[in-house]
Amino acid sequence: MKVLLVDDSVTMRRIQKTQIGNLGVTEIVEAGDGQEALGVLKNNMPVDLVLLDWNMPIMDGITFLKTVRADATYKDVKIVMCTSESEKSRVVEALKSGANNYIVKPFTPEALKEKLGL
Ligand SMILES: [Mg+2]
Repeated sequence: MKVLLVDDSVTMRRIQKTQIGNLGVTEIVEAGDGQEALGVLKNNMPVDLVLLDWNMPIMDGITFLKTVRADATYKDVKIVMCTSESEKSRVVEALKSGANNYIVKPFTPEALKEKLGL
């Protein structure tokens, strides 16, 4: 299983990388914003799952999500949106835009395991 972590926070990516690694995922690639993530995704297919931050500079998560979902090449890529508690109201928009699931930050390893279907 290959996972793409997209978050502008290096610290957040490091935490997620450890958590996902502890769940047995060995193939992990990273990007710091949506635009970078489009390139990383393209170059690393097949990617099974994207863990996607919402607020990022250059290209935010929802724009990345909509761009990816407009391309049939990526129809099998699962996308899990990461959101803070205060952004929870936007989850509907993410799901309507093609996110497979969402997870509220900060999350426990157990929540991550469940949301990623691992
Ligand atoms: Mg962010």
